[in-house]
Amino acid sequence: MAVLNIENLQAEVAEDGGETILRGVDLEVGSNDIHALMGPNGSGKSTLAKVIAGHPAYEVTGGSVTLELDGDEFDEDISEDLREWDLLDLEPNERAALGIFLAFQYPAEIEGVTMVNFLRTALNAKLEEREELFEGDEEEEDDEEEAGYETSPMEGPADEGEVGVAEFQEILQEKMEILDMDEEFASRYLNAGFSGGEKKQNEVLQAAILEPEIAVLDEIDSGLDIDKLEDVSKGINALRDEQGTGVLQITHYQRILDHVEPDYVHVMLDGKIEKSGGAELAEQLEDKGYDWVREEVYETA
Ligand code: ADP
Ligand code: MG
Ligand code: MG
Repeated sequence: MAVLNIENLQAEVAEDGGETILRGVDLEVGSNDIHALMGPNGSGKSTLAKVIAGHPAYEVTGGSVTLELDGDEFDEDISEDLREWDLLDLEPNERAALGIFLAFQYPAEIEGVTMVNFLRTALNAKLEEREELFEGDEEEEDDEEEAGYETSPMEGPADEGEVGVAEFQEILQEKMEILDMDEEFASRYLNAGFSGGEKKQNEVLQAAILEPEIAVLDEIDSGLDIDKLEDVSKGINALRDEQGTGVLQITHYQRILDHVEPDYVHVMLDGKIEKSGGAELAEQLEDKGYDWVREEVYETA
């Protein structure tokens, strides 16, 4: 279990005289919850996603982003003093290791790397980073613990040793079954000839393999036909239902929310979350657009 807590977050483009984009964002996303973040183009949704992940194009000028890991069946091995993390102090790969997922953009095609190898490398990188972050915790226990991780990547900070090829194959198979994905998919070369929909499915598969606490999915619904939208949605629901991942689903359109029902809906306008509600808010937005929210904001300003 984890809670991502964003308070009064302000950020600008990291260059001299860079434009201010986030103007005091407040948002709390916990494991097991699905949040939809909506808003017109240019309101700052993608910037928020990237700032959470630690993208170097933006400079944080105020506020805080913390991740609290509270003990549960997976995390009981994390001691009290390692449960509260200031993400703004951490590198992107450290944030990822703690359980923040934002699909990364890799080069369109990397020669000769299969999906399965790419995913195994990503998982091992995460586990290694995680081990470093939790080192203090590990030391006392090292003697008693069995080496290697056997069934789930999140059963405690990883011990020495990587996830081997055979072990990874099992994990992959299990995840692909949960996501209802074709096994053949994983043996393909990275992105080579992937359709738009397959790239999005890939993103969900990455999240399933890495088992993040919180997954930020930025416009994963864009450009999908109805069949692929249903497949991808099934995958997103599985992330929450099967592994307790909290989801921050960024979308411009209400359409995907028919398949992935949000517990909370937020509207971002000009770099701030101006309105939050339940699933019904998304329907209001579908009917009435964003202008009425803007009017409400000006009335009370
Ligand atoms: P959204 O995802 O809601 O459409 P973005 O976060 O992509 O919005 O962008 C918000 C605003 O910030 C836009 O006006 C965009 O042009 C600007 N912006 C975002 N990133 C950069 C950047 N790296 N350099 C300059 N302007 C940027
Ligand atoms: Mg965007
Ligand atoms: Mg754990």
